[in-house]
Amino acid sequence: MKKKQPASVVTGAAGFLGSHLTDLLLARGHKVIGIDNFVTGTVDNISHLGGNPRFKFIQQDVSEFIFLNEPVDYVWHFASPASPVDYLELPIQTLKVGSLGTHKALGLAKNKRARFLLASTSEIYGDPLVHPQTEDYWGNVNPIGPRGCYDEAKRFAEAMTMAYHREHGVETRIVRIFNTYGPRMRLNDGRVVPSFISQALQNKPVTVFGKGLQTRSFCFVSDLIEGIFRLMMSLYNQPMNIGNPSELTVLEFAREIIRATGSRSKIVFKPLPQDDPKQRQPDIARAKKILRWAPKVPLDRGLTDTIAYFRTKI
Ligand code: UDP
Repeated sequence: MKKKQPASVVTGAAGFLGSHLTDLLLARGHKVIGIDNFVTGTVDNISHLGGNPRFKFIQQDVSEFIFLNEPVDYVWHFASPASPVDYLELPIQTLKVGSLGTHKALGLAKNKRARFLLASTSEIYGDPLVHPQTEDYWGNVNPIGPRGCYDEAKRFAEAMTMAYHREHGVETRIVRIFNTYGPRMRLNDGRVVPSFISQALQNKPVTVFGKGLQTRSFCFVSDLIEGIFRLMMSLYNQPMNIGNPSELTVLEFAREIIRATGSRSKIVFKPLPQDDPKQRQPDIARAKKILRWAPKVPLDRGLTDTIAYFRTKI
């Protein structure tokens, strides 16, 4: 008997992570229906899929009712602005997609009896007082600060996901995504990776915020997507951190980008944005144990691929 092709819906399919996830699902034999309204995503990220008979695209805001005729086995909810600069510019859309959009995507999963995965975030932990961050830490979030629209929308989304699980028996998964980088990030999205790389490639000053002593831990996109795929296919319904635990300061990261690009850029210091988390590093013991997953791509290799991509965009 011919094996059934699984059918996946990816919201935010034209975004950085959504498009890489779509590629992986297609490579693993899924049919994919991608949904995106191009607020922060771009058609360039999915144009290579034109003509693929297993890929269908719907241009829609997922905060509106999602109507689909066909059966669906998996709903991957990735739609949202994800850069602090973007959600500062789009606070209401960010709140809407995290709340109403998650509600609609969960409704679709319930209706289709599909499994649902929420792309949540390390921002759940806010400016964390526990380091590294474990999934049982409840976080330290300023609800009314500039990042509150994203952090609280995602916290609401997690609560909604668990409510659909408990009340309606929807099979749900929650991934808390830590800083991720790779090809298809938007050059001007304001996040540290595209900012530093584009500045360095043009020999312009590299803008370190604050003293650059705040830390981040960067995961290459292929590692992240593999971890997320394993989580969806697992039986685990509690939140799961996925990220790379190798932590460095933003200043160290700036120096690394200047080295990796062979740039003549100098470092300049700019004011630290409000509520910028001072430290961030995922504890991935849970993912290691349950998913048998750990990141494999070292920073220098991931940066080589990412820099090569940005060279084509500048
Ligand atoms: N950052 C920086 N210079 C920039 C952009 C960002 O120093 O041009 C810092 C920012 O203050 C933060 C870190 O880099 O401490 C990561 O910022 P990003 O916007 O990538 O995302 P976040 O991890 O804060 O959500």
